[in-house]
Amino acid sequence: MQPPSARSRPTAVLATGIWLTLGALTRLAARAGGAGGHSGGGGGGGHSSGSSGNYAGGGYSTYGASNADSSGDSGSGMWIFCVFLIVVVFIIIKSRRNINSWSSRQPGGPPPLPLPDEPRDGMAAFAAANPDFQADAFRRKVADAFVKIQSAWSAQSLAAVRPFISDGIYQRFATQFQMMALLKQRNSLDHVRVLEVAPVAASRDGQYDVLQVRIAAAMRDAFICELDHSLDSAGDAAFTEYWSFIRKRHAAPEGGNIYQNQGCPSCGAALPPDMGELCRCAYCQVMVNSGEFDWVLAEITQQTDYGRDSSWAGSVSPQLLQALAELSVEAPDLAVQLIEDKASNAFMQIMTALVTRNPAVVRRFVSDAALATITALIPPDDTVFNRLYLNEVVVVDAACAADRHVLSVGLSATRQRVRLVPGRGLAPVDPAEVRSDYILVLERDAAAVPNMGALYQHQCPNCAGAVGDTLDLNCQYCGVPLNSMHNEWIVTRFEEA
Ligand SMILES: [Zn+2]
Ligand SMILES: [Zn+2]
Repeated sequence: MQPPSARSRPTAVLATGIWLTLGALTRLAARAGGAGGHSGGGGGGGHSSGSSGNYAGGGYSTYGASNADSSGDSGSGMWIFCVFLIVVVFIIIKSRRNINSWSSRQPGGPPPLPLPDEPRDGMAAFAAANPDFQADAFRRKVADAFVKIQSAWSAQSLAAVRPFISDGIYQRFATQFQMMALLKQRNSLDHVRVLEVAPVAASRDGQYDVLQVRIAAAMRDAFICELDHSLDSAGDAAFTEYWSFIRKRHAAPEGGNIYQNQGCPSCGAALPPDMGELCRCAYCQVMVNSGEFDWVLAEITQQTDYGRDSSWAGSVSPQLLQALAELSVEAPDLAVQLIEDKASNAFMQIMTALVTRNPAVVRRFVSDAALATITALIPPDDTVFNRLYLNEVVVVDAACAADRHVLSVGLSATRQRVRLVPGRGLAPVDPAEVRSDYILVLERDAAAVPNMGALYQHQCPNCAGAVGDTLDLNCQYCGVPLNSMHNEWIVTRFEEA
């Protein structure tokens, strides 16, 4: 099942990677046993959560079978076990998956490493610039995060993972939990196994470093909808996802850990067991998930949407990099990953406004024109999204106009609208999940001053006072309009592409 080219690829690097992977596998198996061999073990639902689920239309992603690529030198029982595992996983995937994107590209079978559409961009430069980077510790951290996030998904509670996920990731999960609660849905993930954790690309993004990590995992996935049991499903899934982690360059001390400790990484004060949407220490006021202290999970992408497969690849302005460089001179805090995170956050809150039929949910961070567009999209009756996930969020253009910085973000989202029918359960509005593309434009004054609050997390950006969902634009504490572009990126346009 190995293409000859893969078998002949030598490299000590690969062999090292394989053994590190095997090491991670061994540790995880042990941890799984220690945690009761149940959902505490591996991790699995993020894929149903973060983006597409196995049953949710994203389809299984191809398992890279990277371990098979080793030209390893150890020839022990472990090695035989490894080959055996790959064969078993491959057979299972082969028999279950209806679409194998790889078989269309490479009839020979599973791909060698690296995948042809997955350049190992920037890894060497990152390693050179970060000699203290502890790759093995980072891999363990990611595996740990993966496990915890699958548990959080099953429990529909983000308390345990809040410190190390971005605000956009928080909003993606929280909004889905809200929809699932309305539809009385549960999604239990068991027998979760992390098969591979491999950093595959690194980039510099403003003042931040971004690492893309390929994660292969398998799990048992049971979905129950109390309002309509025809939506129930259960089965085994194996998949590959790409998780993006962001960390502020030179600010974060190597060895920092917001994954295990429940204390503030800055002042050491205990953090509340459930911080909710605002990831801020109540004592020293730092944002725990700012990337200043440790790597933070900022995006989850399915393999089918990753790299060259991105449906937005052709829409990115050829001038984008140049424009971003020019904007960064006036806005040193600008980072593409953070803008995409803000766009994700805004999108999910817009979806909440549609389902709750309450434009106040978004009023504080949208312009008058965007509010009018969003209000016009509000359905006339109780419509909920059965499945709602973002496939892709991509900054496609940047410009400076009339002393404002303007960023256009392309979003692809998959969702199925259903109507709540009293006494009868659900009635589908869309016959199946529909993937749609959107453009969301964010604008901020070129001379914007540092943001004191977290507007998207219901804090006034001028005075950091707490604000609720209200149509009243003026902050009740400082009187400044909440959607002022003097402090924060504001949504000025939202439309289907
Ligand atoms: Zn603190
Ligand atoms: Zn205020």
